[in-house]
Amino acid sequence: MKTGIYGGTFSPVHMGHVRSCSLFLDAFCLDRLVVMPAGIPPHKEMTDRVAGDVRLEMCRAAFLPLSPKIEVSDFEIKKGGKSYTIDTVRHYAGDDVVLLCGTDMLLCLDCWMRAAELMSLCQFAVIPRRADETEKILRCAERLKREYGARISVIDAEPLEVSSSEIRERIRCGDDVSSLVPGGVMEIIRDRGLYR
Ligand code: ATP
Repeated sequence: MKTGIYGGTFSPVHMGHVRSCSLFLDAFCLDRLVVMPAGIPPHKEMTDRVAGDVRLEMCRAAFLPLSPKIEVSDFEIKKGGKSYTIDTVRHYAGDDVVLLCGTDMLLCLDCWMRAAELMSLCQFAVIPRRADETEKILRCAERLKREYGARISVIDAEPLEVSSSEIRERIRCGDDVSSLVPGGVMEIIRDRGLYR
């Protein structure tokens, strides 16, 4: 089975995430796309500490309506502790796994837990996050291919420059972020008073 995995903190899910999933589904012939909110992300400070079950709820609201091929998994959240992608990919051993990530993640792929093993086990699909980094990304992908035999496809798309940290900051300042997050996610943020 060809399985796409899209991991992240998703605090909150925004239009950049949603668009990435749609591009990914269009570009790869996947049997399923598993959205995987992290327990504790190893490379990030989770300053806002929104509980895993609330992030799961936001992921379900944002991603499930996109396609019947999408599943939202509680595997990393249930497991607890730091979530390492290598453990998740090993959980799907037997599948042909493609990992979806943004270019910021590609740039630090070397320092992921058991990076060489990870690159031998799955392919990567990468979505641009910033307009001014194309050269840097292509050079990084070439180096990872040369040094690790990594299989990396950079999806050709204009970046949608939005981030969860920007959204959290704007909510804290009382700004309207409804154009940056899916409607169902906006409702959860409002109902639960998140990120104030
Ligand atoms: P934060 O601002 O808190 O660091 P984030 O916006 O990067 O969060 P994550 O949940 O950490 O969101 O991201 C999950 C995955 O989605 C990562 O691979 C990240 O690179 C990717 N991603 C996030 N935002 C975008 C975007 N605007 N375009 C493409 N990919 C994105």
